[in-house]
Amino acid sequence: MIPFAVKKFFFYAYKRGMMKLFGCIFCQMAAHERPAEILYEDEHCVVFPDIHPQAPVHLLVIPRRHIGSLNDLVEADRNLIGHMMTVVGLMARRQGIDRTGYRTVINTNAEAGQTVFHLHIHVLGGRILKWPPG
Ligand code: 5GP
Ligand code: ZN
Repeated sequence: MIPFAVKKFFFYAYKRGMMKLFGCIFCQMAAHERPAEILYEDEHCVVFPDIHPQAPVHLLVIPRRHIGSLNDLVEADRNLIGHMMTVVGLMARRQGIDRTGYRTVINTNAEAGQTVFHLHIHVLGGRILKWPPG
């Protein structure tokens, strides 16, 4: 039997290979080259609902520019990330989950379950969220 870690390695190698071949889907959505229900956009970031929502509200806040993950952030990105967090708050207010509560998640690499290698902040709310997460 193939060990789980080996399967995971090949899964992520495959994902990155696909991105190189076909381009980054989140870049394409941000550039309006791929259909997306864009709920908010400005010169720095874009927000759309997750295609497989894990809660009644499940949004993705992404930088317009391609950044693979938190591992690729540099000091010059500090304003961008700060701005994205203010957009999270704005979207939470717009979706009516700011008072009831919501969770923000950034998955980084294999063991955290990152599947799209364009930085994104998950915003989840509209139901009671358990802690710790799985
Ligand atoms: P990750 O697993 O990398 O933290 O999150 C990637 C998220 O992107 C997943 O929750 C997945 O459902 C979502 N996603 C993947 N492809 C698409 C797509 O084409 N459109 C939208 N709206 N979401 C997507
Ligand atoms: Zn991208």
